[in-house]
Amino acid sequence: MYDFFELTIKNLETAIGVLGKEKYRSRQLFKWVYNRGIYDVNDMTDIPKSLRMVFRDMFDMSLPEIKEAHFSQDGSIKFALLLKDGNIVESVFIPEEKRNTLCVSSQIGCRMGCKFCVTGKIGFIRNLSASEIVGQLVAVKRYLDNYVPSSDIDRKVFTERHAEEPTKRLITNIVFMGMGEPIDNLDNIIQVIDLLKEPLGLDYSYRKITVSSVGLIDGLSLIKPKVASIAISLNAADDEKRTYLMPINRLYPINAILNFVKGFKGTNRIRITFEYILIKGFNDSINDAKQLSEILKGTKCKINLIPYNESPYIEFKTPNTETINEFHAYLLSKNFTTIIRSSRGQDIGGACGQLGMRYLDKSAHS
Ligand code: SF4
Repeated sequence: MYDFFELTIKNLETAIGVLGKEKYRSRQLFKWVYNRGIYDVNDMTDIPKSLRMVFRDMFDMSLPEIKEAHFSQDGSIKFALLLKDGNIVESVFIPEEKRNTLCVSSQIGCRMGCKFCVTGKIGFIRNLSASEIVGQLVAVKRYLDNYVPSSDIDRKVFTERHAEEPTKRLITNIVFMGMGEPIDNLDNIIQVIDLLKEPLGLDYSYRKITVSSVGLIDGLSLIKPKVASIAISLNAADDEKRTYLMPINRLYPINAILNFVKGFKGTNRIRITFEYILIKGFNDSINDAKQLSEILKGTKCKINLIPYNESPYIEFKTPNTETINEFHAYLLSKNFTTIIRSSRGQDIGGACGQLGMRYLDKSAHS
């Protein structure tokens, strides 16, 4: 049996072609599933009944089950999705003024061990399959399409943010920034990107898909412009500090990353984004900002400053607002396109670096 959610149109055509059936059947299946939200082959009425029975036994169209949806006061929603093997994966829906982003996970746990990240504390459990990654998107999309608030708090958050305008529920952007390092699961990520861009299916432009990495440049070099946008988690401007925060820096030090970025032939509108998590007393001084501006001088990039999201499992603290603003102002004064990414979903443990607490909190399993 094939996992339907990891097949592109081409893969489907091949699978159906082996049966001696017409290729256009794959397009029909795709439209039913991705455009009309029908996941039961029996309901696909323009496919002959006998063929529906064949397809039913041939394709597994089951999705990860949404076990929990936590609503933040800021409108973001953290989802816990149950996979077939009993593992739970987390995704976060983040509505903004001009776009709604879904942050998806690519692994259960992570082997990169970044000191500021809860997922890193779990260690590596396994890669997610392409269908488990696409499944997060399709399951959340289905949830949002059909959502009816069940409590006054949910209703207040959801109706204010989403319900009045149905378009507010649309997932316009996808970021691989949840649990795991996407480039450490490269084959599946490339398959997922192909699927996300399928014109007859989800039809996302490469501009709307962002792969965020600690800087595994060998794998990143396969994510070329027009494949997806790239974000690299930098977090320090010198190797000693970066290695302390991110052990992977021993293999891919700052210079190697900068050389990769310089060789990245983006278009005018596609630039690499550097993420810089601001941690109180560690990398948030004006001296750090100066050092950052020096190493990035002449590099075509954007900088996202992310004030650290505190977690009970990690000792780092969030800098105060004044420090954050000074750091930001310094980079602006050096003409870097820099924004402060306000942390979303902190009250639900859905902010950057907070995913996966359930694996550390034994009570979550009871
Ligand atoms: S920040 Fe990303 S790469 Fe680093 S440990 Fe966390 S999930 Fe892994």
